[in-house]
Amino acid sequence: MMDRLESLLQPDQVSTQEETRVAYSRDASRIQGECRAVVWPETVTDVVRLAQWAAETGIDLVPRGAGTGLCGGATPQNSVVVDSARLRQMDVLNIQLKQVVVEAGVPLDQLNMNLRSAGLFLPVIPGSHRSATIGGMIATNAAGLHAVRYGRMANWVENIIVVNGNGQVQCLAGSERSNSAGWEGITGMIVQATLRLTECPGKRSLTLLSFENLRIMLDQIDTLKTNPELSAMEYVNPNAAIMVGWAAKHTLLIEYHNSDGEIKDPEEISIIWRGRESLSARLTQAGYPVSEDPQIPPEAQEEILGWLFAQEIPVFGHLGVGILHPRFLPDDPRIPELYGRVSVAGGRINGEHGMGLKKRRWASEALKKDFHALKTQFDPHHVFNRGKLC
Ligand SMILES: Cc1cc2nc3c(=O)[nH]c(=O)nc-3n(C[C@H](O)[C@H](O)[C@H](O)COP(=O)(O)OP(=O)(O)OC[C@H]3O[C@@H](n4cnc5c(N)ncnc54)[C@H](O)[C@@H]3O)c2cc1C
Repeated sequence: MMDRLESLLQPDQVSTQEETRVAYSRDASRIQGECRAVVWPETVTDVVRLAQWAAETGIDLVPRGAGTGLCGGATPQNSVVVDSARLRQMDVLNIQLKQVVVEAGVPLDQLNMNLRSAGLFLPVIPGSHRSATIGGMIATNAAGLHAVRYGRMANWVENIIVVNGNGQVQCLAGSERSNSAGWEGITGMIVQATLRLTECPGKRSLTLLSFENLRIMLDQIDTLKTNPELSAMEYVNPNAAIMVGWAAKHTLLIEYHNSDGEIKDPEEISIIWRGRESLSARLTQAGYPVSEDPQIPPEAQEEILGWLFAQEIPVFGHLGVGILHPRFLPDDPRIPELYGRVSVAGGRINGEHGMGLKKRRWASEALKKDFHALKTQFDPHHVFNRGKLC
């Protein structure tokens, strides 16, 4: 079967070497899987051939962008990993319409760097923006640092070209886009997308607010959100703040796309953002490698953030949209306790990282029903991401 796989593509587009398979056997979630082979399609036709081969052989394919996912979505389970790294064309930029056509493997920062001269950018910025790919961001419906102003990836997708599990190429637009955006690759491999863009901000400024008391901080949020130029509202709890040398307080990092913030010096602004963005790596080094992503409704934030602080769990995240990242040791029994509290409070257990392999045991009946309907329509032989989500 692997001989036939090798005959579908050029020799440098397929690897069954052990070191490659080991490197692709997990994503940033650290959930370990098993990889049979890695392939690097260069065209849509390559992906079509791969889907047909998988349907015939019964071996499943796992689409992979940069592998920064934190739920095992790109972790193979005795599968062939389809790396989008050679699908990196950026074709058409329509400045009037503020749209760009890109292939799935383009990393976000590379896209935004290329758009800079046109004064436009894609404003969905996950913490992993240096490497996360457009395909991975659409598949997970990524949110991130500016979600309070710009929302999630699905808001910025005009249409998506997908190779489905039958090997058909489909263009999904309008309401059909939601059959792939946020479905973590279970309906097929995204190969290209037309994205909407917005103007780069002319100015940026920041305010850092620190609070001894959580309730007093939370009481400020609605007022702060009334500023139409608000572009980020990040929270860092006292246990996380000390990791970047900030005071051990409940801290809000607030960014505006004008001069309303107290800090206006671009160098100072970038030092503060670098501190915030270094938190994930610092907490991993400090022994908290597991990142969760509950989305907590405003009325439950005092109770849940207070509980996390009392448990000495470091937390940071996008409080402007209620998505927080408490950090844990692997298998910490307080993780299910957290999600129990979040569910009771009417929050979401998958704020922005997706379900992948990690959270499928918490899949609701409604999600399972939608999953089965989509699989029947787009991927009846379970060619793509078998065993994920549900
Ligand atoms: C330090 C750090 C910070 C992060 N911060 C954020 C954040 O602020 N906001 C946020 O939303 N996420 C965040 N994440 C999670 C992750 O970066 C995002 O989910 C990102 O969108 C994944 O992109 P990727 O290219 O790495 O995808 P992968 O990890 O490679 O894949 C993710 C999922 O998408 C599927 N997929 C990938 N490419 C395709 C494709 N072409 N077609 C179909 N399916 C595909 C995979 O099968 C998998 O299920 C963070 C991760 C890290 C490590």
